[in-house]
Amino acid sequence: MDLPQKNSLFKPTIIEQISSLGDNCIFVKRDDLLPFSFGGNKARKAVYFFDEILRGGYDSVVTYGSSSSNHCRVIANMACKYGLICYIVSPEEEYTETFNSILVKSFGAKIVKAPLDEISQTIDALMNDLSKISKPYFIQGGGHGNLGTKAYVDAYNEICDWEKENHIYFDYIFHASGTGTTQAGLVCGAVLKGDNKRQIVGISIARPNPRGKQVVEQSVQDYLESVNYDGEVPNIIFDDSYICGGYGKHTPEIKETIHQMLCQNGIPLNATYTGKAFWGMTEFIKKNNIKNKNILFVHTGGSPLFFNDIKEKFL
Ligand SMILES: *Cc1c(COP(=O)(O)O)cnc(C)c1O
Repeated sequence: MDLPQKNSLFKPTIIEQISSLGDNCIFVKRDDLLPFSFGGNKARKAVYFFDEILRGGYDSVVTYGSSSSNHCRVIANMACKYGLICYIVSPEEEYTETFNSILVKSFGAKIVKAPLDEISQTIDALMNDLSKISKPYFIQGGGHGNLGTKAYVDAYNEICDWEKENHIYFDYIFHASGTGTTQAGLVCGAVLKGDNKRQIVGISIARPNPRGKQVVEQSVQDYLESVNYDGEVPNIIFDDSYICGGYGKHTPEIKETIHQMLCQNGIPLNATYTGKAFWGMTEFIKKNNIKNKNILFVHTGGSPLFFNDIKEKFL
């Protein structure tokens, strides 16, 4: 079977212009349309991990995430495709059935539930047991780590290629920031291209500062070290003003943003990530009086979450 990097996942995702915000032109990079398992940034990252897994002859994969995790859906789906046994460690406290958790089960993944404060011991014990009888590969929650960062360095380069071809320069790039790997990749992409004119703004969907920003900084540093870069690193903009009470929490304004986006542009957002971030971007633009700029929003996916939202009479 072909290694995943040979399949269509590596074709650049489209960038389309949508309705403007004030005087600003808004564009969306549709990573939600990546052609594997409902797409999203977790699909983009997963290809890089599975490239390493398949080359290394591993026979099982262990990862971590909640029952609503897009990452777990994609990893379980890819493990199924390549015939690997997949273990998903999940906190038992927050475990509710979602479209993502139904899909994870349907891919035959083994779900290992543990209390939140015993997750890391559970992972260690599982890896230890599996190592005695097989060759397991561990992926951090959310596809965190240098390979996940690399996926978004490459996405950054896709953005630059598009700009060159279309004679448009994005003054800002916004996106939903969680573990910070997506942001770290975009920032590293800019650093390595010597691109320091534009701002890359991560809208935190859960983590408050200073920790949220520190994690992004650490990921940037780790990646740049791995490619032997020793120049300057820009200040990271990780804005925690729009977390609305934390992971999965939302407000009527976010609902309205999602409804508007669907009606006006036919693009599904979700309340946990992209809807929150798009609303946050709108507020950021107003607050900072941004005018007459070209702004790119990276749609990081999460389509199954959109259906959870509408099931709860969201629209
Ligand atoms: C995981 C996720 C994010 C956050 O990505 P990070 O790389 O962890 O910051 C954003 N949007 C969606 C839809 C996600 O599933």
